[in-house]
Amino acid sequence: MANSTFCLDSELVLASNNKGKIAEFELLFSELNLNTTIIPQGQLHIEDAIEDGLSFVENAIIKARHAAKLSGRPAIADDSGLVVPILNGAPGIYSARYAGEHGDDNANNAKLLQDLQPYRQSEQPIKAMFVCVLALVRHAEDPLPIICEGIWEGEILEQARGEHGFGYDPLFWLADLSCSSAELPKQEKNKISHRGQAMQKFRNLL
Ligand code: IMP
Repeated sequence: MANSTFCLDSELVLASNNKGKIAEFELLFSELNLNTTIIPQGQLHIEDAIEDGLSFVENAIIKARHAAKLSGRPAIADDSGLVVPILNGAPGIYSARYAGEHGDDNANNAKLLQDLQPYRQSEQPIKAMFVCVLALVRHAEDPLPIICEGIWEGEILEQARGEHGFGYDPLFWLADLSCSSAELPKQEKNKISHRGQAMQKFRNLL
């Protein structure tokens, strides 16, 4: 999804306080060779927005507007998560707080494994996808946010593998590569991930 061309300012506030995401974004932006400085919102003492949308798109826009409003600068937000069709799309937009506490990756992964237990009887792999929606607003009331999305398909493992990445990476199995996404170095993950795909679309708009 992409809706206009855009000339990037030299500074862009990144509407996230998630360390894993920030690290991936910094690398992604450096690889795109743009003359843009990414300022994570935490450096401006901006707290997380209240994400009360019902979709990745709504929440990405909410987060970008919040950061743009409090910083007075253009802002980009990523709303992302894991969608498991057999769980009716859960954890979905609630991925960061699936087990209750925001950002508790160990508890979220444990809950996902537990919720999938009843479906492990069959030999079928459990399909899943990582989804990323990027929203960029030039200012807090921008009527035409730039929206790009990326979808990365995989399966859910029965136990964690790998030390890289964050969130659900240790449980996300890539059958083609015979590894989990937590076994991919950051550069390799960025080439194929949901976030990497969304960033490439974003790059093509600039
Ligand atoms: P958000 O910060 O509200 O967008 O929540 C994103 C959540 O989705 C993270 O806290 C992770 O649990 C999950 N997530 C998103 N992207 C990834 C990824 O690349 N790897 C693993 N988990 C991810």
